[in-house]
Amino acid sequence: VIERTEQLAGQLPGAGVDALLVTALPNVRYLTGYSGSNGLVLITPRGRDFVTDFRYVEQAAVEVDPGFTRHRAAQNLLQMVPELLAGAARLGFEAEHMSVSTHQRLGELCGAGVQLVPTTGLVEGLRAIKSPEEVQRLRAATLLADEALERLLAEGLIGRSEREVAIALESHMRAIGAERPSFETIVAAGAHGALPHAQPLDVMIEPGQLVVIDWGAQLDGYCSDCTRTVATGELEPEALEVYTLVLAAQIDGLEAVRPGATGLDVDAVPRARIADGGYGDHFGHGLGHGVGIEIHEPPRLSMSSEDTLVAGNVVTVEPGIYLAGRFGVRIEDLVVVTEDGCDILTTVPKELRTVG
Ligand code: ZN
Ligand code: ZN
Repeated sequence: VIERTEQLAGQLPGAGVDALLVTALPNVRYLTGYSGSNGLVLITPRGRDFVTDFRYVEQAAVEVDPGFTRHRAAQNLLQMVPELLAGAARLGFEAEHMSVSTHQRLGELCGAGVQLVPTTGLVEGLRAIKSPEEVQRLRAATLLADEALERLLAEGLIGRSEREVAIALESHMRAIGAERPSFETIVAAGAHGALPHAQPLDVMIEPGQLVVIDWGAQLDGYCSDCTRTVATGELEPEALEVYTLVLAAQIDGLEAVRPGATGLDVDAVPRARIADGGYGDHFGHGLGHGVGIEIHEPPRLSMSSEDTLVAGNVVTVEPGIYLAGRFGVRIEDLVVVTEDGCDILTTVPKELRTVG
């Protein structure tokens, strides 16, 4: 993985800096392989340094790419930065990830001879384009999550609370090898499904409801993300109609994903389908987001996106319709952008399923 850091080092002159301090842990993990909770990377003209404290020295010895020189610092890792800088005068920091107080401390430690320069999105830009090996990890995380859902649905939903079902799904994921859920599982039945980010409640799932399940597994450091909406019996006609519309819109969205398309273009296609169907006011969120080491990362597919897709991006396509007080439907797949379209990682079927 040291090639990633060399690529990053090549971008530093363009960003107006001669050294870069990487403190966001997902970025540290991407560059070094380190998965602990205290660590930083410093890229200077002189070297590639990784700093952690005594608690993580052994873990770092196993995980950190040998292209880095490893250092052990006091718990405040920044104290090591001035000596490692070795004369670099313009030090870039990650403006989106550093607190004001950390910035202040860093300035005091480095002194007047070093100028702190804000940078944004340098590592994230590299992370947005997945290597074949990263795609393989995302595919494995997705398959694991898919298998966990099948185990859950085989047990049935009616008579269990949303919370019980969410816990059961997370426990299935862990039982078959997930490090952890990649975010807090959403299980939302009936009217509760009209809240896109519903927290599972201690409320029983009843027959004849739509149940939105949004879940993901983290495996080898990479996240999966998928949503399915299932029925627990015969539905009112409008619920069926909305399901059919969301499914058609989701398929439209998948077909719009290709290199060169903007996040704005791709978002617009399913949004138009939903508006034509008469539900334009009920799809209030963006169409999708990048997924990788983090569950939400660039690029974005939305009405305010400034991103353009390239091969190797991994994004979700997740339109939804939410009718307050009644029900919600969302269908989400995870896809990798290929040279001429996209490859769908998710394997769970999308036709409406009825689960007792
Ligand atoms: Zn999701
Ligand atoms: Zn998502």
